[in-house]
Amino acid sequence: MRRSAPPPGFPHRATLPEVWVEEVRKAVLSWSADNERHFPWRQTRDPFQLMLAEILLRRTQATRVTQPYSELVSRFPDPQSLANADPTEVRAMFRSLGLVKKADQLMAAARVIAQEHHGRVPHDLAGLLKLPGLGTYSARALLCMGFDEPLPMIDESSGRLLRRLLGLPAHRNAYGDRELLAIAKELLPVGSARRFNLGLLDLAALICRPAAPRCPSCPLRKLCSFARCAGGARSGS
Ligand code: SF4
Repeated sequence: MRRSAPPPGFPHRATLPEVWVEEVRKAVLSWSADNERHFPWRQTRDPFQLMLAEILLRRTQATRVTQPYSELVSRFPDPQSLANADPTEVRAMFRSLGLVKKADQLMAAARVIAQEHHGRVPHDLAGLLKLPGLGTYSARALLCMGFDEPLPMIDESSGRLLRRLLGLPAHRNAYGDRELLAIAKELLPVGSARRFNLGLLDLAALICRPAAPRCPSCPLRKLCSFARCAGGARSGS
């Protein structure tokens, strides 16, 4: 079956073609079922543990924080225990990685949750954004991953993929881009937002790489403006 693709520079203020949207959803979910990356924070739905992960992951590579994350949730499994922790001990867990500032943010966030939210992670964007160490992306990610809110998650890598997919200009900053967020929201499949968001992140990290997208291996290649216009051979976007 010949697949549909939006024209390069698709007028993204318009509604995306329904058939195309459905094919993108299916392609991402199907690819993700076989290719999902495994990180310890993807094994939990506990909002506090997910919050710790989001603070650690902010502007930091996942591989760098995998081990300290596991140590942290094992030693301090809930907000109260981390709020009451000896700062010297927590900082020591991150000192060799040069992430002492994150240790302070983690403890400060735990204290706010313990003291102002009865030990429960806030379930709303405004409440999460008041926690030290969380930004808009990480707060949205937490709402989706921990509370099953159907919210899009656009970081630099998934934003890059969507721009290529739709033939949008490459120079935009993905964080806070309202049009990209609207597109990502339209793409979210009902009932599978979490899986779709993770699939998009993994696809962007493993296939739609910044300098050399692996279009021939991409499940979206027949739906993608970039691959169609550049034959998948162009190396940047
Ligand atoms: S086909 Fe190529 S450019 Fe398009 S989403 Fe896949 S890897 Fe990225």
